[in-house]
Amino acid sequence: MSGIDLTAVTKVYPGGVKALDDLNLSIADGEFFALLGPSGCGKTTLLRTIAGLEDATKGTLSIGERDVTRKPPGSREVAMVFQDYALFPHMSVADNIAYPLKIKGRPKAERYAKVDEVSGQLGLAKLLDRKPGALSGGQQQRVALARAVACHPQVFLFDEPLSNLDARLRLEARTFLKKLQRELGVTTVFVTHDQAEALALADRIAVMDAGQIRQLGTPREVFSRPADTFVANFIGSTPMNLLPGTVTDGELVIGDDRLALPEPVAPQVGEGDKVVVGVRPEYLELTVGEGPGLTGEVSILENLGTSTLVTVACGELNVGATVPEEDEPTPGQRVHLKPVPGRLLVYRDGDGTLIN
Ligand code: ATP
Repeated sequence: MSGIDLTAVTKVYPGGVKALDDLNLSIADGEFFALLGPSGCGKTTLLRTIAGLEDATKGTLSIGERDVTRKPPGSREVAMVFQDYALFPHMSVADNIAYPLKIKGRPKAERYAKVDEVSGQLGLAKLLDRKPGALSGGQQQRVALARAVACHPQVFLFDEPLSNLDARLRLEARTFLKKLQRELGVTTVFVTHDQAEALALADRIAVMDAGQIRQLGTPREVFSRPADTFVANFIGSTPMNLLPGTVTDGELVIGDDRLALPEPVAPQVGEGDKVVVGVRPEYLELTVGEGPGLTGEVSILENLGTSTLVTVACGELNVGATVPEEDEPTPGQRVHLKPVPGRLLVYRDGDGTLIN
């Protein structure tokens, strides 16, 4: 068992920056868990605290039900892969992979048997004699992974391990990483600021902001029902439309248009309440001509490959809707946009939390 439990963990750096703020989190044994959030939200601090590279100022941390709050990194059985891979430039690939086992005092024969095993798994068998400087970014990344795998850790900690790779290699490495994690079944915590990466890889995601967790859920939950407007803004390759509205006569008035109030929301709002209406561009059906829903004029078309993101000027508001390539309208055309049933979200105007 190698789940991770954090209870009321706070980290204050010397100088007073509170990087983690009373954080509670349970990561299950074998789970692939992503920490996602903007720069400075505390992702790396959380990872380093799990690794033991930072001490929690307050709170407790356990790995596999063992309290490791005050235990040194070496006794935690975690392996961390850094953004820059942290390979030793003067050592061969084989020696880099074997290094942590050497530190643990494993005999040479065992070390190199392990190197052979993991280099086979990670497609590095032909590169064992090279130095890191003679490898591509993708190969270096695999060496760093191999070094982590060779230690048989209870937990993998990844700090943006794909961020130095170009877009294509990054996609390949992502699939590879997911497959490897599934095969090994090792509890994995993965830091990224790339929401698409988190959605693609993780069993669950924690979206962080200012040292706290804004939302914890499966990729589907976080994508379909962001808990607040911060998360809604952060998740999705095309941003969610967040439109100011008012509850009037049991409907949502947005600019000059009206939309039906989702049924579960109706009892929780009153006449005249200000709200923020959230709907993803993928969940707005665009039809040319006048009709029900949000109405406006096509202003910008952006090619997304197989689909097009259409920006529609609805009075003062710009609303995005994605349409299949073949249904692309032309700029200047009048159109109306109808939300897909069940896909309209309503947030409170003040704190931006979702009204369920
Ligand atoms: P990024 O995505 O940019 O790496 P992050 O979400 O990983 O950001 P952290 O690196 O955990 O964020 O930093 C959280 C906060 O703590 C930031 O305000 C940062 O400036 C501060 N911080 C990080 N390391 C230290 C340190 N050693 N001393 C003082 N403050 C620090």
